[in-house]
Amino acid sequence: MTFQDFDIDPRLLAAVAQASYVTPTPIQEAAIPAALDGQDLIGTAQTGTGKTAAFVLPILQKLLGGPRGHTRALILSPTRELAQQTHETIEALGARTGIRSATVYGGVRYTSQIKALKGGIDIIVACPGRLLDLIGQGCGRFDRLEALVIDEADRMLDMGFLPSVREILKHLPARRQTMLFSATFPHEVEQLASQVLTNPQRIAIGLMRPVETVSHALYPVDESQKMDLLLALLKSPERTSVLVFTRTRRRADRITRQIARAGLRVTCLHGDLSQSHRQAALNGFKSGAYRVLVATDIAARGLDVEGISHVINYDMPDTADAYLHRIGRTGRAERTGDAITLATPQDWEMVWTLQKIMGEDLSRQMLDGFEYSRQVSAIYAPVKAATPAARPTKSHGRHFAPARQSVRGFYRRGG
Ligand code: AMP
Repeated sequence: MTFQDFDIDPRLLAAVAQASYVTPTPIQEAAIPAALDGQDLIGTAQTGTGKTAAFVLPILQKLLGGPRGHTRALILSPTRELAQQTHETIEALGARTGIRSATVYGGVRYTSQIKALKGGIDIIVACPGRLLDLIGQGCGRFDRLEALVIDEADRMLDMGFLPSVREILKHLPARRQTMLFSATFPHEVEQLASQVLTNPQRIAIGLMRPVETVSHALYPVDESQKMDLLLALLKSPERTSVLVFTRTRRRADRITRQIARAGLRVTCLHGDLSQSHRQAALNGFKSGAYRVLVATDIAARGLDVEGISHVINYDMPDTADAYLHRIGRTGRAERTGDAITLATPQDWEMVWTLQKIMGEDLSRQMLDGFEYSRQVSAIYAPVKAATPAARPTKSHGRHFAPARQSVRGFYRRGG
């Protein structure tokens, strides 16, 4: 299938070609015809699957006909970074159409956002908090709205935005096309979907499965050696563009300083930093000025950087959903990536959950030439042929699996 097979305007096809999209991704193949048909959609798709273009192209097509000077599409995003990236996708794909888009999110000045809302910019990409704030000030004009997208609904829920989303919905016309995207469907998201969508078509791509081009590896390590192991991993020349995840902002800062002291070009992205700092960090990482970006989950949500070679989970994510989103940053658009997770003995509970979800064991690796403390080598005995955890996904070095006694509880739970 090609993009020409969709019933879309030649100006959009030209922009698609300009963006070097040749073949539609599976979510695009399924969602674009349904959305062009005007249907409501529930898309189960993680980032990295091409879901943004899957809703942006039909919206642009819809807006080509009809009046200008009114906001006719609203896209709700959980984070500023995702909102910014969606806006950039609209600008790129809509470059030849004259359709304009603007972002509305917190942490920046109100002036241009008020102007965009009052001026009836065609597409508004907004984070719920700031949008609701501005609607409260009488700025939103949505009486001509035709399309609404609720993107990453599960993250909206995690971040406590669902009440704001519901409040915003009260200001939108009931007759509209609505598309909701989420990687997972907790009860509250299902409930929202059943309330805001009419006879939706469900499109499930890669439901709770990681991007298939990513290989996963666990590097068992003692807490005290995590930093040394991270530095040793970063030194490998094949790790050209690495995203490192930490649990907290403070840890992100500390790790960034330590990596910088080791002489690597590194920057950092988290919620405590100003918008301009975040933008500079992102731009620097995108351009290759920084080889390593250290980020927290929320800051990196929806991050769209071409060619991230590796994602390293310095800290184990708190949920399987967060794991899937983190590793969705690599292997994007069918590139091959690698996801490395440093796992301490305290993390085995989560390892079990991840393996359950992925339906396969994560391979255990040890870095050749790294001086492991005795503790670690005692905990993780080399793999024996019959060990359940000995099915590696890709070779990184020597394969190791936890010794049975340290994971007895782990396997008893059904892993
Ligand atoms: P998304 O899942 O929307 O975050 O998109 C992930 C990445 O894939 C972005 O960098 C897009 O520019 C890129 N992309 C989207 N659709 C295609 C396509 N059909 N072919 C190649 N790349 C694509």
